[in-house]
Amino acid sequence: MTVANLLDFDLDGLAAFCERLGEKRFRAVQLFRWIHQKGASDFEQMSDLAKSLRSKLAGAAEVRPLAVISEHVSADGTVKWLFDVGGGNAVETVFIPEDDRGTLCVSSQAGCAVGCRFCSTGHQGFSRNLATGEILAQLWHAEHALRARLGLKPGDRAITNVVMMGMGEPLQNYAALVPALRVMLDDHGYGLSRRRVTVSTSGVVPMIDRLREDCAVALAVSLHAPNDPLRDELVPLNRKYPIDELLDACVRYLDAAPRDFITFEYCMLDGVNDTPEHARELVKLVSGRVSCKLNLIPFNPFPQSGLKRSSNARVQAFAQVLIEAGIVTTVRKTRGDDIDAACGQLAGEVQDRTNARNRMTRAPIKVVKKPQAEAGKQRQETRT
Ligand code: SAH
Ligand code: SF4
Repeated sequence: MTVANLLDFDLDGLAAFCERLGEKRFRAVQLFRWIHQKGASDFEQMSDLAKSLRSKLAGAAEVRPLAVISEHVSADGTVKWLFDVGGGNAVETVFIPEDDRGTLCVSSQAGCAVGCRFCSTGHQGFSRNLATGEILAQLWHAEHALRARLGLKPGDRAITNVVMMGMGEPLQNYAALVPALRVMLDDHGYGLSRRRVTVSTSGVVPMIDRLREDCAVALAVSLHAPNDPLRDELVPLNRKYPIDELLDACVRYLDAAPRDFITFEYCMLDGVNDTPEHARELVKLVSGRVSCKLNLIPFNPFPQSGLKRSSNARVQAFAQVLIEAGIVTTVRKTRGDDIDAACGQLAGEVQDRTNARNRMTRAPIKVVKKPQAEAGKQRQETRT
């Protein structure tokens, strides 16, 4: 008999599992709370569970954490864990503390098949989807390790926000993602509100529609370009789901979204997508069409990319065009630089089964000539 990993179940799944053991649903609620709210993995610790249930569980189930390969703490308090997911694959998880929140950036896949030009994970290729239990094990470990480290009182939360912005494309691992989101939202689980859980996607249009129906959390869409030819180059998935279709899906999503805007992420690449002309094209694209917020991300360079980060002046000039057009625009602060924990730098170590490393060595992207950049006003933020 295979031993079930209880981290693989949302509450309904756990109730069904308990029923198969001949137990009532309220037992599942108790068990679920022990696991996710108290961080317990040993059934013997779960003192209010009947002895008979504890012994049934002992043979049939376990709470299976991920092995921690390393943990790095940045000078700014950012923490990065590298978890072993077996078969020579590792994924990364990052905690970003701020005054009013603690955000955990969670991975959904070992590697990624989308292969964006500016992303270190994309350059590694795809190895495999994570199971629900592997997605949740990142949150489970981080929450309980941080509570112990920070000396929090029982009931206090270290993690107030989750962003699916680690390694992988969450909407290409949909079946495992949705139960994991449900556990994050469940009052008996992590109790996070839908606006504090964000799925970030490179634009898997049919799955954006499904997420709207199944579990409408906050949505961030990685746009990165104001037109199809450039987006085709940067985000190869655009060839399948071009910008027009993507924006239509965003508009549909807004009907169910917990916020009244979609966040568009835009990675600022020197001379590639960062001119005032690109900004004006972007304004034309989204204005009056989709209620949105623009989040400009300074590119985090890594050696194989052949790309450079836009200068601050350039980012500010770009932001200024958007702000003047009435678009709420933020520039993401880079955190955890000293431990390579920034967005797009998460590399883990994955077995590339797609040979992405070879595919990536293509002609460089055309770099446009720089006009004079001017400084403008913008807000700073880390993540929403
Ligand atoms: N696959 C999803 C979520 C993971 S990537 C997605 O693409 O949205 C999370 C964010 O980091 C995305 O907006 C992605 O475009 C951005 N990103 C990737 N590589 C980056 C890099 N090198 N520098 C800055 N941001 C990067
Ligand atoms: Fe995958 Fe997102 Fe990286 Fe693109 S940016 S390769 S979709 S993880």
